[in-house]
Amino acid sequence: MEKLQNYIGGEFVDASSGKSFDSVNPSTGEKWAVCPRSDSLDAELAVKSASEAFYSWKKKSVKERARILNKIADLIEENTQVLARIESIDNGKPAWLCEQVDIPRAAANFRYFAEAVTQFSSQSYEMEGAINYVLKQPLGPVVCISPWNLPLYLFTWKIAPALAVGNSVIAKPSEVTPASAFHLAKICLEAGLPDGVLNICHGYGDEIGTSLVTHPSIKAVSFTGGTTTGRLIAQECAKKLIPCSLELGGKNPAVVFADCDLEYTVRNLVRSSFTNQGQICLCSSRIIVEDSIYDEFKELFLEATKKLKVGPPDAKDSDLGAIVSKEHFEKILGCIEKARDEGGSILVGGSQYQIMKGDKSDKDFSKGYYISPTVIEGLDNLCETNQEEIFGPVVTIQRFHGYDKSISLANESNYGLSATIWTSDLNTAHRAARDLEAGIVWINTWLLRDLRTPFGGVKQSGLGREGGFDALEFFTEKKNVCVAYDI
Ligand code: NDP
Repeated sequence: MEKLQNYIGGEFVDASSGKSFDSVNPSTGEKWAVCPRSDSLDAELAVKSASEAFYSWKKKSVKERARILNKIADLIEENTQVLARIESIDNGKPAWLCEQVDIPRAAANFRYFAEAVTQFSSQSYEMEGAINYVLKQPLGPVVCISPWNLPLYLFTWKIAPALAVGNSVIAKPSEVTPASAFHLAKICLEAGLPDGVLNICHGYGDEIGTSLVTHPSIKAVSFTGGTTTGRLIAQECAKKLIPCSLELGGKNPAVVFADCDLEYTVRNLVRSSFTNQGQICLCSSRIIVEDSIYDEFKELFLEATKKLKVGPPDAKDSDLGAIVSKEHFEKILGCIEKARDEGGSILVGGSQYQIMKGDKSDKDFSKGYYISPTVIEGLDNLCETNQEEIFGPVVTIQRFHGYDKSISLANESNYGLSATIWTSDLNTAHRAARDLEAGIVWINTWLLRDLRTPFGGVKQSGLGREGGFDALEFFTEKKNVCVAYDI
């Protein structure tokens, strides 16, 4: 069993209470790591450590902070294989995906914000007899809370900008996938990040998570996770009048027009629906297809979905690995049942995928949490299946007639994180991009990310924007200085 520890004040420590919990490998259903179950005492220690480290960190030159962040990026890259293996065991996702996407992106997050902070500037306003200039100053100790679906990828997406502009951080990874954050702490220590500048506390959201968010010395909270939790966090931040950034759930539409490149669209929508077992907030979950090509699209989409291989995360040919936890696995199967009750036809998948003992490996994956990629049709857009986030390898297809209907179906949702448009008509593409209610719109592509661009959702999908200078703005406070020079 791996033993994970909190990282506070530059030291690796157990929870003050001595309590811990087991972390399960979802591909086998076996316990594989033991994790500290932190509480308010640990929050107190971590906030104290971050508060003490803040002043010297913020005084460091931008160049020095950038140097350390780049060093962290170097070490993540050097440890790609180790980190990918850990992430894959902890989360159940294919190891090749971790090696190609999750871990490189974690390194890129540090590298990008190391560079961005050197370009982060502010305004000046000259007036009669005086000049105003704006200082953008770090906030102090801030809290970063991330989910389990892209563990190191999203954890670092928050930590890197917060550190770059001079804040100290107390971070909490999901209790379900704590391992890569523990290893990141070792990397930060080796990279020379001063003690206390980054503190990592493990444990349950309603214990250590709440203790951190409600701590009086915390200056901001950056949160990625479910909408219900986000709302709770926003309420706590409102009580203290501190800023919070919320990246929440989605129910992302893919709008397929008859003039799209059908083969290309199908290939990409299979990817956007089932990558990471459908556990990406940006995954397509409602595919809305123009009437005239619906049958052809359906046939090709089902054919391609059936070709996907579900299998052990360490197998190179597994397209989908395991669902992250037993609890989430059962939730997804429950959603599929609900879709049946609502009158949906399951066109492919619809159940647990069973890996037989001894199949492809000497390890026993028969007790892992696997679900076949599932496609459902015949549901009304307003039913629960089409309105509530499932966050698994489940997608629905619906047909539309006419441009206005495509937009109204796509927008008929409480969520508004991302949307994709598939068309070869330039006017339709730009018109739909304008009309869709989403924070991110992709035209003829999906998950193509430039880290400089604003990232976030509208409606119940979030508040605020991450990415680029938006993230650096969030983690700084503007101060206007007015200097009279005609005296
Ligand atoms: P949760 O909201 O359950 O948890 C997210 C994080 O918050 C976890 O670290 C969790 O800890 C912690 N947490 C839970 N309750 C509290 C609390 N009361 N106070 C402070 N922290 C708390 O989400 P999931 O982990 O289940 O992640 C899946 C969700 O994340 C989906 O809805 C998905 O759409 C969303 N998401 C959004 C993204 C975006 O960018 N918009 C990107 C990725 C995911 P613990 O795990 O211990 O409960």
